[in-house]
Amino acid sequence: MKKTPMHFSTQLIHGGESPLIERAVIQPIFQSSTFETIPVADYKDNRYLRLNNTPNHISLGKKLAAIEGAESGLVTGSGMAAITTALLSLVKPGGHVLAQDQLYGGTHGFFVGSFEGLGRQVSFFRADEVGSLEKHLRPNTQVVYTEAVSNPLLRILDHGAVTQFAKKHKLISLIDNTFPSPYNFNPISVGYDVVLHSATKYLNGHTDIVAGAVMGKEAHIDAVLRLLNYLGGCLDTHPCFLLDRGMKTLAVRMRYQNESALALARALEKHPKCAKVIYPGLPSHPDHAKAKEYFKGFGGMLSFEYQGTAEQTDAALARLKLCISAPSLGGVESLVTRPVNTSHSAVSKQELEKLGIRETLVRVSVGLEDTEDLIADFNQALNGG
Ligand SMILES: *Cc1c(COP(=O)(O)O)cnc(C)c1O
Repeated sequence: MKKTPMHFSTQLIHGGESPLIERAVIQPIFQSSTFETIPVADYKDNRYLRLNNTPNHISLGKKLAAIEGAESGLVTGSGMAAITTALLSLVKPGGHVLAQDQLYGGTHGFFVGSFEGLGRQVSFFRADEVGSLEKHLRPNTQVVYTEAVSNPLLRILDHGAVTQFAKKHKLISLIDNTFPSPYNFNPISVGYDVVLHSATKYLNGHTDIVAGAVMGKEAHIDAVLRLLNYLGGCLDTHPCFLLDRGMKTLAVRMRYQNESALALARALEKHPKCAKVIYPGLPSHPDHAKAKEYFKGFGGMLSFEYQGTAEQTDAALARLKLCISAPSLGGVESLVTRPVNTSHSAVSKQELEKLGIRETLVRVSVGLEDTEDLIADFNQALNGG
């Protein structure tokens, strides 16, 4: 008998869960690094925490796969462990990656600083080149790498065109889906092979752990797991438990954050001290149509340009009473950053200009505070001084 697939919110609660243990409603933390040996056919059937096969890892991997509509999934010690391990296992030595040019700082840094030393090549394409990626192909190209939404300008690629190109040329397509979260976007449904997450952000949602996730076809996840087991980027079982707990509320959190960010974006758009508001849910966003095509909601991230100098921008942010100035995103509390000082501090003035990232640009991760309180906080901070 064919089972009806559970809906997303139900998968978050019950996906991957093993039968109740000692009638406990919540799966206990298996805080044990090793497990009793049973006569096993294969050494890899031994359970050991670094081998990512404790009951906590196994159920979490299944839940992660379920919420991305993937065959298989695994959890890692950080988002960067997920990204670097996936790249090194799926790009063979001598291979080449064709990557989007606007990437998370750590990923970009890994590509330009370490990739070649590890025997792999990378080259970058601009968003407006998605229709003509053939010109970037090399005989050794193996992987295409993108992000679902770029940071901090929240640009959205034509993802369908990327995956069509990958399929045509038999490349493996990888996407970092951290910003929309699986609630708003499931890249596998548009043809991506492997989905990566910094689970530190929306998946966990509570700013209290660092973790990562990789979901995709079984053969790809098996390859990533083999290397992960050697490189050792496992997540300990206590943060596994916290991530599982955090994920259970992803749907209700994202639904609220989608609504709240849209309301804040609309309010900021009317504010005289806001030169520009960047949010994929606003018709003024250059990729609004793509956001509507691909995403269920427009997400909890927005950016705006302050009408003034860099110093005046900092002064306005210092007047915020609810929002904390800190990097990272996706938690229950609202955070603000000025990207030229944080994620893009290593980028040259010229390059920033080319990218269109001004000194007065502010990025906001909208949390779960009351929307009216957030709008009031931004109003008083931007008006003051
Ligand atoms: C934070 C982040 C990462 C890195 O994740 P860590 O959990 O900090 O290692 C990768 N990609 C994106 C888009 C991120 O926001």
